[in-house]
Amino acid sequence: MDYGLLPKEHHSKIPAADPKVEPYKGRKISVCEPTLRGNEKRYVLECLEKNWISSHGEFVLKFEEAFAKTVNAKYGIACSSGTAAVHMALAALHLEPGDEVILPAFTMIATVNPIMFVGAKPVLVDSEPNSWNMNVDEVAKKITKRTKVILPVHIYGHPVDMDPILDLAKKHKLHVLEDAAEAHGALYKGKIVGKLGSMGAFSFFANKIITSGEGGMVVTDDPEVADYTRGFRNYAFSKDIHFWHRFIGYNYRMTNLQAAIGLAQLEQLDQFVEDRRKNAMLYTEYLKKIPGIATPPEGPDVKSVFWMYGILVDKPYPLTRDQLRQHLAKHGIETRSFFIPIHWQKPFQEMFRGERYPVAEDLCARGFYLPSSSSLTKEQIEFVCDVVRNPMV
Ligand SMILES: *Cc1c(COP(=O)(O)O)cnc(C)c1O
Repeated sequence: MDYGLLPKEHHSKIPAADPKVEPYKGRKISVCEPTLRGNEKRYVLECLEKNWISSHGEFVLKFEEAFAKTVNAKYGIACSSGTAAVHMALAALHLEPGDEVILPAFTMIATVNPIMFVGAKPVLVDSEPNSWNMNVDEVAKKITKRTKVILPVHIYGHPVDMDPILDLAKKHKLHVLEDAAEAHGALYKGKIVGKLGSMGAFSFFANKIITSGEGGMVVTDDPEVADYTRGFRNYAFSKDIHFWHRFIGYNYRMTNLQAAIGLAQLEQLDQFVEDRRKNAMLYTEYLKKIPGIATPPEGPDVKSVFWMYGILVDKPYPLTRDQLRQHLAKHGIETRSFFIPIHWQKPFQEMFRGERYPVAEDLCARGFYLPSSSSLTKEQIEFVCDVVRNPMV
């Protein structure tokens, strides 16, 4: 393992390689799998019957309109991935070299890479221990004359405390782009997340709350942003002369096959959220009394969707995080370690050399998530919790 510039004292906090999951009594429980029990098949067959296999056809528009409506946005612009969605949204802001984007150190790499794609400068903030989300007080301290965007991420489906962020944005005239890739259907003070700021980015990767296989969406109320991102997604073709391009665009299109699945999934969003919340409550009920196991937070003003059910491992629990993952793997249970913070990632080590984000680092050292599919059964959850409860068998 090549840790690059990461100081030695932190090497042990980087998760061990994923343990091999052995079938237990012939069965395995995957960490997260899609549930395709609605109109997915019917809509995809309709695409095939109508020859709608590229982005030409009716499902892309239908999905965009229905999704935008769900998150109370005027426009939804579907694209090929969540990463593409973050990229398109940032591109629409026309940032300049040296412009700063504030984001949490504890997030998936897909939040930060697009900041590099557009040539802006990522500025990190630590998490706060009660929600695992970006610490709002730290955000205020990181604002400079060059700050242009605050990019909160609703980590593992738990909404960020958005009001103070929106206040800061108003005061300093900043854009707020929510990375809501993990939080479809989550509520902050009763309002659905994703378009609480000026724009939002969603992912529909196969392990998200709703999926199109691969896919993403930008949501906004701003017609100029909608127009620009639509162009960005499709080589900036001009509207009248076909091969006349307005600027340098990408091919980030979503196909009708994907949109058909996305639309069918969207129809089931409420059910998925309900299932995930019910599963999380069950897990917490079984796990909360185990010394050394911390269950995931849920703040007072929010409804988390528990995209992934994360736990933290510490003494007096007899196993380390990596050992517990091994123990679960031997029982056919797949898990995933938490994100490794951005400042520790090889491509960013030089940029953030010497910077410390202790809460993010601690989450990385102690956290992992248990199987979290919407389709989990009570028996499966009980089995997983029994294995956690009996570390020696
Ligand atoms: C999954 C995810 C993304 C990226 O989505 P892709 O569709 O895989 O590109 C972005 N941000 C966060 C926080 C994610 O969890």
